[in-house]
Amino acid sequence: MRMRARLAWAFTLTALGVMLLVIVAINLGMAWSMGHMMGTGHAMMMPMDPSMAALARWSAGVGLTALALAAVAGWYVADRIAGPLEAVAQAARQMGLRDLSERVPEPKSDDEIADLAREFNRMAERLHHEDVARRQLLADVAHELRHPVAVIQGQLELIQDGVRPMTPENLAGLQDEVIRLGRMIGDLRDLSQAEAGALTLSTRPVQVGETLDSLMATFGPVAEEQGITLEAATAPDTPAVMADPQRLRQVLVNLVSNALRYTPPGGRIRLAARPLSGMVEISVTDTGSGIDPADLPHIFDRFYRGDRSRSRQTGGSGLGLAISRSLVQAHGGTIWAESTPGAGSSFVVQLPAAAG
Ligand code: ADP
Repeated sequence: MRMRARLAWAFTLTALGVMLLVIVAINLGMAWSMGHMMGTGHAMMMPMDPSMAALARWSAGVGLTALALAAVAGWYVADRIAGPLEAVAQAARQMGLRDLSERVPEPKSDDEIADLAREFNRMAERLHHEDVARRQLLADVAHELRHPVAVIQGQLELIQDGVRPMTPENLAGLQDEVIRLGRMIGDLRDLSQAEAGALTLSTRPVQVGETLDSLMATFGPVAEEQGITLEAATAPDTPAVMADPQRLRQVLVNLVSNALRYTPPGGRIRLAARPLSGMVEISVTDTGSGIDPADLPHIFDRFYRGDRSRSRQTGGSGLGLAISRSLVQAHGGTIWAESTPGAGSSFVVQLPAAAG
């Protein structure tokens, strides 16, 4: 039985029950007053009192009207509840058929039914966004993989046709593209694991100063070769951070590689660490090209490149910062960037300090 009919029945039966109780009470009252009158010698008045008959008719009329009103009230209340529920069920059915644009009307009232409609619409909105993001990611991955594959295919065809000789230099170009493909696939795997919360982090207290020293050792020679000054400074009272040392290094390698990529010769890159109320703040600041304010809100998005052609030439996949952000978030930290175009950029990572 549908809810409207069920509630109408429930209301009617309740009204019927109340009516029966009232009738029983009236009868009991009458019996008591009869007994009382017999006891006082007025019993001969009892056979048929016209006012009693009128009262009985009036009670029957009121009772039937109450029953009808109860049925209508039950139907009305059920309609108020069942209407929005049916809309939610219909929308859920549509969403099951992959139509994520379906929404339900939100009642103006401030009750549970309105809450349900609002929460349902919020959930639908989230699913819609995730669906759009998933499609966009698939399109981006296909687009990004097509470029190196097309280059490899074209080069191989030229070599097969004898147009290009199979020299070590030509093969090295092909190998570069294969390496780039492999790096991108590795980046995508890291990103999907980090975003799905499937990364296994082996966290332990890590002395940030030691990590910065190791980065200096790795990138010092590269920076020198590019004519860039690379320096590191860790505040003396900086506590250890609770982190997976490999993943922390991966984040900072991304940031320093970017700084080296976007800083011209003669520039300066500064790595710094300092304590900050229960956290440790690590920053990578460069005097490079800076980031256009229009790009700044998007640089942590997957495949986002400020300057698409230049970045692709220099080998960036546009995934580095997206991976860094996911890794930092997996550690319970935050990452952001500040920049002045033409003057440089600063990437700041805050991670929880290790207890004690
Ligand atoms: P990419 O592989 O292109 O470097 P990232 O995700 O690491 O991808 O960076 C995204 C974009 O952010 C870059 O294409 C670039 O435009 C901008 N960017 C990142 N770091 C810097 C920096 N230090 N200076 C200027 N621009 C930067």
